[in-house]
Amino acid sequence: MRSDLTNLTDALEGLHARGLHRRRRMLSGAQGVEVCCDGRPVLNFSSNDYLGLANHPDVVQAFVRGAERYGVGAGASHLVSGHSVAHHALEEALADFVACERALLFSTGYMANLGTIGALVGRGDWIFEDRLNHASLLDGGLLSGARLKRYPHADVVGLRQLLLSCSEGTKLIVTDGVFSMDGDLAPLPALIDAARESDARLMIDDAHGLGVLGRNGAGTLEYFGLTRQVEPILVGTLGKALGTFGAFVAGQHDLIEFLVQRARTYIYTTALPPAVAEATRVSLGLVKEQSWRREKLHALVVRFRDGARQLGLDLSASPTPIQAVLLGDNERALAVSEALWEGGLWVSAIRPPTVPAGTARLRVTFSAMHEDRHVDSLLDAFARLPKGLVTH
Ligand SMILES: *Cc1c(COP(=O)(O)O)cnc(C)c1O
Repeated sequence: MRSDLTNLTDALEGLHARGLHRRRRMLSGAQGVEVCCDGRPVLNFSSNDYLGLANHPDVVQAFVRGAERYGVGAGASHLVSGHSVAHHALEEALADFVACERALLFSTGYMANLGTIGALVGRGDWIFEDRLNHASLLDGGLLSGARLKRYPHADVVGLRQLLLSCSEGTKLIVTDGVFSMDGDLAPLPALIDAARESDARLMIDDAHGLGVLGRNGAGTLEYFGLTRQVEPILVGTLGKALGTFGAFVAGQHDLIEFLVQRARTYIYTTALPPAVAEATRVSLGLVKEQSWRREKLHALVVRFRDGARQLGLDLSASPTPIQAVLLGDNERALAVSEALWEGGLWVSAIRPPTVPAGTARLRVTFSAMHEDRHVDSLLDAFARLPKGLVTH
């Protein structure tokens, strides 16, 4: 919705009237499963801290030690004087983790996506995006000046048709690895084939797969057994399963060296605090070593899906800790979220424009720190809602 600046009051009232107004709830402590929010204890099903590492004592300690050694601010961008041993060591550890030649740190996933797409394509080029890609990927496509084609969700046949209809110029296919609002996976094997056949590059944003999917947590590529078999442009974020902050792009040496030269969101911004990099290196170690976190998460998801099916909830086809309960109507999604909140359960209502119109939903996310009894509390709360509110 566009609004002229003199009419912000009307615009805000319009958002309220359509059930689209958003507000922020306030935490008074660390991120976790049992949190204190807006002054009351609640059980949290709204966090992306999938492995429960955001407040892990070893990660916190590495952050404190990092601050003691490096101070707080990086002081400059990477190309000026902000690039430290801490950043460099993390880049090497991340590249090794995802089995790519090199990795490059960005300050956020949003910036990694804007900067990478903008560096790789421009006017005269083509970019192909899944309709349900994250906002930062779509914004990156628009900002790049390349011709942007959106293909129907996970529809590789549709994508191939679009690829056939263009000829000159660089072609970049861009997809989420795990779709952030549905939790389903991109059809990576078919996308890789389509890219290969049409001489296009494939960029995968694995913000929600990294740490969560694959035996070692290396993400969606590992889940499909494709690690080391393809040379993708891989984006990972550090603020979700890794529990810290920031993001990286991984790929071949020349890709990374080119991004250092050309990605504007890399060049023209202050480097991450080195202490964040130090904390992330420790959390990466936990991600790799503690596969029990992934196993437990998976068991919680299975338990939830079994129970939800028995209740007749309309779930997305998701094997990941992102579980969408589809409701359709904005007001209904809000009403269910409010009712759960009243019962001490925090489950976010997701509405347009984050998801397409008519697909408002609850987005339930699980953490390895949840227990079976937490899942059961959530299912019980759904069961107690007035009939017709969550089931059709
Ligand atoms: C969260 C997210 C981002 C943005 O990452 P930040 O580091 O939070 O800016 C990018 N892509 C996807 C798919 C995401 O879910």
